[in-house]
Amino acid sequence: MDNITFKKIQHSIQHALNSEFYKKHFEGIQIAQITSIEDFYRLPFTDKADLRKAYPFGLLAVPPEMVVRVHSSSGTTGDPIIIPYTRKDIDDWINMFVRCYMVAGIGLSDIIQITPGYGLWTAGIGFQQAAEKLGAMVIPMGPGNTEKQIRMMIDFRSTVLTATSSYALLLAEEIEKKCVKNQINLKKGIFGSEQWGEKTRTSILDKLGIELYDIYGLTEIYGPGIGISCKNKKGIHLWTDYIFYEIIDPQTGRNVPKGTYGELVITTLCKEGAPLIRYRTHDITRELPMPCPCGLPYPLIDNVVGRSDDMVKVKGTIVYPRLIEEILSTFCEIGSEYQVQINRKGNRDILQLIFETTQDNQNRYLLEEQIKMKMKSSIGITPIVCGVSVGYLSRSEKKTKRIFDNRIF
Ligand code: ZN
Repeated sequence: MDNITFKKIQHSIQHALNSEFYKKHFEGIQIAQITSIEDFYRLPFTDKADLRKAYPFGLLAVPPEMVVRVHSSSGTTGDPIIIPYTRKDIDDWINMFVRCYMVAGIGLSDIIQITPGYGLWTAGIGFQQAAEKLGAMVIPMGPGNTEKQIRMMIDFRSTVLTATSSYALLLAEEIEKKCVKNQINLKKGIFGSEQWGEKTRTSILDKLGIELYDIYGLTEIYGPGIGISCKNKKGIHLWTDYIFYEIIDPQTGRNVPKGTYGELVITTLCKEGAPLIRYRTHDITRELPMPCPCGLPYPLIDNVVGRSDDMVKVKGTIVYPRLIEEILSTFCEIGSEYQVQINRKGNRDILQLIFETTQDNQNRYLLEEQIKMKMKSSIGITPIVCGVSVGYLSRSEKKTKRIFDNRIF
């Protein structure tokens, strides 16, 4: 890490101590003695639950009159998380967001249809303010009302769609159903806030025929726009002049070697209203090699493959369900249903992967061998792979359970 970034980290820690929350969180720690990155790595993490406890203004690190807006991260349980923003925080966020639009090649002449929600949530307003700063034309639709969305898209000749990936897919399906694709002028889509597999992506691409960009962000750290995928579609560039990131082993809390999957942890470098130090995003990703052929000087992380809450450890290796799904999605002979069974025999963990396929016995065997090799090279585990006929695995109307950990600890 360069010296400037470390100075910014030191400054951010010092500034965070102005908040009630960090005064308590860092109690007993001599902040003046944090003089190296190793010292920094010893600081405790900040987690979502901590921020809930700070409700409503425990995170505030500036005098209240400096706050110009609050946003809130949606929570299903307990108190919501409140993030106060100063004028500069909003400007910084919008500058990062404008950068995202520019990376996607969006400019003055674009017409941007915004379908993420407005209100306490950060998405809609972030997309809008940045688009206006860019000088593009905004259609602030907000979510829902698909009929109207498509009508406006046709009448205003929208060139850019911003949406969650699931809403984009729904819109794409409606456009296909109505046979109005030839009246649509969309060129690009900026989608975020959900993990989405290759199959959803291909489906949107097939139906709309547009260029897709993944935008990354979370309300606790500004909102969407702290990173975006570039033309090379290899991963997401993070704006490391505003944030410092680490990738940690979610179980030990230690930084993982470059290229290994782990949990993304973010420290804000210049946030005034609610600075966050070592904030655990629970998003699983890994560092990708640089330089990126696009020439951007910002580091590249992989698309988020899952949440640290979903992972299981097999033979000492962390396995993320989404990674298995990604591997399976590269084989067109495989159906959408699969199951992972984890058992223990003596001291050994055994991972069994069962998938549905229409292939006959001989081809099924070849497929099993190919999957085995791919699992070994990408996850580091050789599973027992078993192809079954379509309809063999049970279906559920609710979210289907894929991973069955039958080990007794
Ligand atoms: Zn790039």
